Amino acid sequence: MTRDILIPHDDIVAKIEELAEQISSDYSGKEPILIGILNGVIFFFSELVMKLRIPTRIDFIRAASYGSSMTSSGAIRFVKDVELPLKGEDVILIEDIVDTGLTLCHIVEHLKSKEPASLKICALIDKAERRERAVTVDYCGFQVLAGFLVGFGLDYDEKYRYLPDICVLR
Ligand code: 5GP
Repeated sequence: MTRDILIPHDDIVAKIEELAEQISSDYSGKEPILIGILNGVIFFFSELVMKLRIPTRIDFIRAASYGSSMTSSGAIRFVKDVELPLKGEDVILIEDIVDTGLTLCHIVEHLKSKEPASLKICALIDKAERRERAVTVDYCGFQVLAGFLVGFGLDYDEKYRYLPDICVLR
């Protein structure tokens, strides 16, 4: 397998600064809970949280679905649930990639059952053209049309997460 750089590290960091600025101004005076969807989100999540100008609390959720496949199965189970109580809180769900939207739909339904005051979605990459379930990404880093991406936390079979750039695997 070969890989080509699609989004260089510096462009990712600059985009995360923009997202942090937008979220900070939208949530001015509030203290949202940011929930990262493990594992792919780790680098995006930490860069974003550290650049926010508002106080936040953080938590994580992990849904297993992908395995080593390059296509989404749609079958989800929660390996780790959030631990903070969400009732009445402003919640921002942070995801690495939204592809078909199946994973996110399951997680959104699950979190809504915990009765947050508000729930918004922030994704580093939106593959909107491949959407099978209606999911609105409120804060989107990059729109990507196709290809399987690795790097900056994204893996293929647990490999390539360490790469600083986002690359297309061929
Ligand atoms: P969806 O359920 O929206 O189809 O898939 C969402 C999940 O599939 C993402 O959280 C991510 O883990 C994985 N995924 C989707 N597209 C890609 C991709 O291009 N590269 C990697 N590494 N994972 C992907």
